[in-house]
Parts: sequence; C-alpha cells; structure tokens
Amino acid sequence: MNVEIVTIGDELLLGFTIDTNAAHLARQLAAIGVQITRRQTCGDSAAEIASAVREALERTGAVITTGGLGPTSDDMTKESIAAIFGRAMERHEDIVDALKTRWKAWGRSGELPLSNHQQAMIPAGARILKNGHGTAPGIWLEDERGRWVAMLPGVPREMRGMLADELLPLVRARVIGEPEVIVSRTLRTTGVGESAVADQLGHLAKNPEGVALAYLPGWEGVDLRLTSRGRNAAAAAVALEKAGRALLAVVGPATYGEGDTDLAAVVLATLRARGMMLAVAESCTGGLLGARLTAIPGSSDVVLGGVIAYANGIKERLLQVDAEVLKANGAVSEPVAREMAAGAARATSADVGLSITGIAGPGGGSAEKPIGTVCFGLFMQGKVSSARAVMIGDRDEIRRRAAQAALNLLLRALAEPVPDADTETVFAARPLQE
Ligand code: ATP
Ligand code: MG
Repeated sequence: MNVEIVTIGDELLLGFTIDTNAAHLARQLAAIGVQITRRQTCGDSAAEIASAVREALERTGAVITTGGLGPTSDDMTKESIAAIFGRAMERHEDIVDALKTRWKAWGRSGELPLSNHQQAMIPAGARILKNGHGTAPGIWLEDERGRWVAMLPGVPREMRGMLADELLPLVRARVIGEPEVIVSRTLRTTGVGESAVADQLGHLAKNPEGVALAYLPGWEGVDLRLTSRGRNAAAAAVALEKAGRALLAVVGPATYGEGDTDLAAVVLATLRARGMMLAVAESCTGGLLGARLTAIPGSSDVVLGGVIAYANGIKERLLQVDAEVLKANGAVSEPVAREMAAGAARATSADVGLSITGIAGPGGGSAEKPIGTVCFGLFMQGKVSSARAVMIGDRDEIRRRAAQAALNLLLRALAEPVPDADTETVFAARPLQE
C-alpha cells in the first residue's frame, strides 16, 4: 500500500514549526510495511488543503493529514476534505456531551466555549478516531471505491497517540486484508553510515529472508528495524529470527544491542564484567560523555569521574597534557586526545581513560580541521590509542555523535583481544566517518 502525507499549518510553511509529524508518520508506517510515496505541506487555507488532498487521493487513494482539526477559525481541514468527498458536516451530540464533561472535569468555569462546538462537526459517514490526549477527534473518511483520508490533530503528542491507538490498526487491517501477525525487531548499529551499512549488507539490504527492513539513522547510529508478517505468530517469529541472524552475521561488529538499548549501558556492563574503572576527559562535549554514563543507574561502581578540560590550561594542569604537544598539534589532535585519556586515568587511578577533543562549531573550523573534527583518546591496560573522525550535523548533533563515538571506541576496544604490542594504531583500520 502507498500512502501520501499532507501536513497542514501556516507555521510549518513559515518554518516556525519543524514538521516532525511527517517524519513520525513515515517511520511508524514503514514499520508495518506501508510506504510513504509523497509528502506535502500546505497552509491553513481551505483551497490549498483541498487541492493537495485531492491530488494525493488521485495518485494513491490513501492520504493521512495532520493539523487544522482544532476549534479555531484557522482550522479548516475537515470542511475542505468533506467537500472533496461531497459530504455535509453533521453535528455529533455525543461529542458535544463528551467535551462538556471534559470541560467540567478540568474545573473550567462557565459553559463550553461556542468555538469548541465546532469540534463536534464531523463529515457525514465518517468514522471517528478517538483522541486520548486532547479534545479534537480524528476522522477517517472513505468513499465507495475504498479511497480514504485519515485526519489527525497537529499537536504531536495527540497525533502520535491517535496514530498508535486508532489509525495504525486500521491501516494494518487494510495492508493485510486478513488477520496476520506482525512482529518486529530493531538491531542498533553505530559508527557506520546508513549507506555503508546497506553496502555491507549487499543482497540482504532489501527484504532479508522476505522480511521488511527499515533503516533508521540518527545521532546514535543506524537502527535496522526488521518487520516480519506471517499467518501465525510462530511463522512470523521464525522469519524474523532468520533475518536477524543473517543481518548480524554481516553487521554484527557494528551492533551494540537491540530495541532501545543505550550504548552507555552496554559499555558500563562490559567494564563491570571486567572489573575495570573508568574516567573521562572531555573538551568539546563539556561533560556529555560523563552525563551519558552517569545517567545509567548503578554507574558508580564503574565510573570514577572525569575532567571537563575545556581550556588548554586545564588540559595542562589537571590532565598533564604537555604544553609542547598542545602547541605542536593543536588542542584538537590525536596526540592531545591520547594525553588527555592517559591524564584522566592517571589523575583518578582508573583502569581506563577515555577522552574527547573536537570542533563542535559553528565557528573554529579550518581546511585541515573542519567543523565536526573530533579526536578520541583511549588509555587502557597501560597503553594509549586514538582515533579521529568528522561528525556531521550542528553543534548539538556533533557533540552527541562525539560522545556516542567515544563510547563505541571503548566498546570495540573491549571486544578486541588484548594486543601485546604498541596499540597506537588499533583504530586506524576503523575509520569513524559518519
Ligand atoms: P489545535 O486543537 O491545537 O488547534 P490542530 O489539530 O488544529 O490542533 P494545529 O493547530 O495545526 O493542530 O497545530 C497545533 C500545534 O501543533 C502547532 O502550533 C504546532 O506546534 C504543532 N504542529 C502542528 N503540525 C505539526 C507538524 N506537522 N509537526 C510538528 N508539530 C506540529
Ligand atoms: Mg489548530
């Protein structure tokens, strides 16, 4: 099934609101094997809404809209779409009653405002989608040919709730036609870009073992979501297991867990199992790495502490980074990252020292060290190693990606057999380019 999305709202066109609804819809629908073939955004104008939805309906016969369902005069989604279907608006007394009850329950004084009565106006023959998080009901409108439009609220929290509770089950029933079981599983990879993951997967990149595969890239890495459907739970689960195994055989080294596993938690558990204590030294991430680690309950038996060494003077004084090394290589360099990692471990008597120094932007980049350049140092078992990568994104994303990459470096190093020679180049074969 192909679906088009129309998101509605002047503030979306003006750029004041980022269209997170369309992204969320696309991800959720992909997970049940439904493809979004086109997205449109239009303003709060009846004519624009009508023409966008009419065209989309002609192409796919399946459209989801968000926004413009509220009680105010700029909310005209329902009327415009009802007109396409040639339906009149009908007042639903049960919705008015429910709104009045809610109004009282919220302890509001006086009568329900007249504008709220507008929310009880529903196109004739429509199916109502319940709103568990707000007042505006959603609407499912379908014609005799089975073409449909689902109208969801604009407020993201309401939209997400209604999608999960009401719309996805309806769409799923459409896709499948008959009852079928859908199971999914998410493998979390990091340190390898989306296209590189697909390249590595080769023939498995699309529908491994007949199971749908969605790539979900983010600052944490690329999540691989497998969605399997079958006549019964056992068949769906078997296919999912086979597909998961096939994927892991290829991308296993880049994988750190499943579902919503946090890389920091995996690193902590691995260090704990080895009885190793950790200290961090952070420049451009300003404590983000420490925050990621200490956000995990029970981290105190692994994390000793760290130094936010933002200024060079602090790198020298608290981490004993050599002034000459700083001068010769610059603060964002592998030699400095190595000294920071060793310095953090030395200062705290930790077994492992992990450091980050980089250029988060928006200023400070150069041809040789562009914005996003981040160097990492790792001190472990008396040896130091380092890596360098260029992170993409804005300041916030670069910093988050840097903390994630540092955790990944440590996890990979813990997975390697302990080398006996100098390990300075341990990561050289693993470029971190995102
Ligand atoms: P309301 O009852 O609040 O009027 P509504 O269904 O009419 O709800 P809108 O008025 O279009 O929805 O949007 C309400 C708010 O939801 C907007 O101010 C905006 O912050 C947010 N919003 C709307 N559309 C989107 C979108 N596509 N992505 C993210 N946020 C959105
Ligand atoms: Mg509104």
